[in-house]
Formats: sequence, structure tokens, C-alpha cells
Amino acid sequence: MSTHRPRPPSVETLLVVARGRLADGTDAEAVTAIARDVLAVERTRLAAGESATDLERLVDDVLDRLEAFATGSPHDLTPVINATGVVLHTNLGRAPWPAAAVAAATRAATGYSLLEFDRVVGHRGPRFRAAEAHLIALTGAEDALVTVNNAAALALAVGLAGRKGVAVSRGELVEIGGGVRIPEIVRRTGARLIEVGTTNRTRAADFEPPLADGRATVVLRVHPSNFAQTGFVEAPDATELARLAHAHGAIVVDDLGSGALLETAAFGLAHEPTPAERLAAGADIVTFSGDKLVGGPQAGLVVGRADLIARIRKDPLARAIRPDKVTLAALAATLGLYRSGRASTDIPVWRMIAMSPRELGVRADAVLAGLPTAIRGRVRASQMASAIGGGSLPGETLESVGLVIAGEGPAALAARLRAGEPSVVARVEHGAVLLDLRTVAPEDDIALAGAVARALA
Ligand SMILES: *Cc1c(COP(=O)(O)O)cnc(C)c1O
Repeated sequence: MSTHRPRPPSVETLLVVARGRLADGTDAEAVTAIARDVLAVERTRLAAGESATDLERLVDDVLDRLEAFATGSPHDLTPVINATGVVLHTNLGRAPWPAAAVAAATRAATGYSLLEFDRVVGHRGPRFRAAEAHLIALTGAEDALVTVNNAAALALAVGLAGRKGVAVSRGELVEIGGGVRIPEIVRRTGARLIEVGTTNRTRAADFEPPLADGRATVVLRVHPSNFAQTGFVEAPDATELARLAHAHGAIVVDDLGSGALLETAAFGLAHEPTPAERLAAGADIVTFSGDKLVGGPQAGLVVGRADLIARIRKDPLARAIRPDKVTLAALAATLGLYRSGRASTDIPVWRMIAMSPRELGVRADAVLAGLPTAIRGRVRASQMASAIGGGSLPGETLESVGLVIAGEGPAALAARLRAGEPSVVARVEHGAVLLDLRTVAPEDDIALAGAVARALA
């Protein structure tokens, strides 16, 4: 070991320099803890044989970290431009919120609210019900309930079976993502899973035996939201299955996953089932997500029969997985946009889906024009295909327009784009980097041009 290796400054030295530059009232212990972190990094660098960092730079680092914590902008939530063309990218946080939802969430978070308070009588009242009221109006359900996500909503709904059986088609025993599997959710609720039919073909009649002998009290339908079956396949007709279940006193729970509140076929996509049509087909409970095609905050939406929702509401688990005031406010604002007739213009997810190739082409040309001439030759506008993602409309694509960057090392270029500020997440296809403009907010087009210029410099 060399004794000449430089040593980092002491915590005290760092603090003396930092102190003059700190905001009034900053807690000294917090600063000391961050200074220790910065010095630990420096010590590791020095041990690896790297040269010593200036004292001023170390202090800058301490102050930058304090500022990032104070402003709620730690490194892992760095701004991201989603250029993948996947509208509901689960790893990128699914749906960006509508402006109205952000404003409502800010209001709910900032002050006190009448969350659970009746101002006429002056004491506890029913919990804020605006989101539920919107859900009832939008789906025709008798009642509605909101949970933290759809997996939780599904667990609550399946819990209606108690210790009895939940009958599910073998074609619908799916993994919904992140390793979460329907059979495991069912078993975790304490209910018994009863598998019915075969992987590719299940008929309503296959449900008859467990219903007739009373083993199954819940029939669960799970929408194949992230895969598609083709060929020799058959799924039971919703109405027929509901009639059979009801004849035996069982209830039908329909997990839609995405659950569109607008007609997707009007946007050139396949038809995605709506909660209203599933209720009309006889489902007693329908569950879906708040942050998939609904386009709002993460939430689980439960709609259906009033007596069953009342039972669900009494389940202690419902309390354990209820959403907070900020989510409720944002969700109510998002759902309000459907009722005001402004969903396709004011909800980012729908605005992106609705954007025409012509509009996208105009934007692509503008981004190209914003690139320095030296690199413009490597980039061209091109047609491409966007996907919906987030467990919605598997295999369906929308004709889109974006930028293609050809040339050497697409993986390395994609990595440089991701490492930039803002971070740009692209798609690599056929040896080229693709930037699909459909999922880029138009107000980010200029930032995207800058990021591409830096990555290619
Ligand atoms: C996405 C999905 C879920 C899970 O919803 P989260 O809101 O992510 O918890 C459950 N079921 C289906 C069919 C889904 O597509």
C-alpha cells in the first residue's frame, strides 16, 4: 500500500466551506450525513487510483444532493421522454396525468379538504365520493369503489367467494405482469381455484359442473389483455356464462384490466371491452385500472351491484388498500373529463392515440429542422408503428411517424440517449434507433431535438 495516496478532506472541512452557502434553517445533521456520503464516494475513487476532486467540487456535490432532496427531484425520477411509441409503458409510469388531474391533486395535497367531513353537521361524513359518482354515471353501475390498483381490486372482488371456489377458464389463468399471476391472487385471498375448460377452448357449459354442485360461488373472467390467441380457440359467451352463473346463485367477476371508457374502434384500433358493456352482459362486478386506457392515476376501479360493493366495502382488506386523497382527487378530475366530453382532447393517453400520421409527420419535419446541419444527414423521418401497451390491445398497432437514426452501434446510441438529460428512451429495430413521436409530448419536441443532437455529437 502506498502511503502517498491522497486522502479526502475531513467532514469538518467540507462543512465549513458548505455552511456559507446553505439555505437558512438547514438542519446540520442532514448536511453532515450527505457530506459523509460524498466523501465515501471520493474515498472509493481515490482507492481506485483516480485523482483527488477539488474541495469546491465536493461541496457543490453536497449542495446539489441537498437541493435534489429538497425539491423532490432525486436522480431516479429524472425527466424522461418516451420515444418508444408504447403509449402505456408500465416501466415508464404508464399514463401521464391530464392537467386537470395534476391541478386537482395539487389542491388536495396543499390544504385541508372535506375528504371525510360533513360541513353541514360539522363532523365525520362519508368519504369523498366524486370519483365513485363519476364511475356510476360512466358505466351505468349501481355502485363503485376505488382501490390502490386493479390487482387489489381483483383481490377484493375474488374475496367475495370467501373459502368457496372461484371458477376460471384455463385460457384465462394469465400472468398480468411483474410475475403476478391470476391463480396466485385467487389462492392468496383464501378462495379455492377451480380450473375449467382447456387452454385454447372453453365453453359456458364447462362451468356447469362446479356451479351445479355448489363448489364455485364466483365465476371469474380475466380479459386477455397482454396476449392474443389465434387458431382453434373459443371463449364462453359473456351473456350465456352470466345466465348460467346466476341460475346457480353464483356471481360473475369480470377483470377487464384496461377497461376503456371511450370506443377504441373509433381511433382505428380493435374494440376494447368497456365496463358498461360487460355489466350489460351480466357481470356483477367489473374491475379495471385507473392508469391504463382510463388515462389517470394508478388506481383500481370496482363497479357493479350495490349489494356486492357494500360487502366489499366492509372487507377489512378494502381499508388496507384504499387510495389517498391525492389519488382520489386526480381520479375524479380524470373521470370528469369523460363526462365533460373532453376526454379525447384533454387526456394525454387519448390525445396521443388520436394523433394522426399527418400531424406526426409535421412534427417530425420540425424536429429534423431543429437538428444541427452536421448531424441531420444521419436522421430521417419515417413511418413506424406505435403500440398501446400496458396490458391493452395486444398486437394492435397505430400507424405513426418518427425519426430513424441509422448507422453504427444503435445499442450504444440508445444508451447515450437514455443517459442524457432529459433521458430519452428509444426503440431499437432492424439495426436502427427509432424515435416514435406519438408518445412524445409535443411540448417536448424541442428538448428531443437537443437530446438527439447531444447524443450524436
Ligand atoms: C393490468 C392488469 C391487471 C393489474 O392491474 P394494475 O392496475 O396494474 O394492478 C389485472 N388484470 C388484468 C387483466 C390486467 O390487464
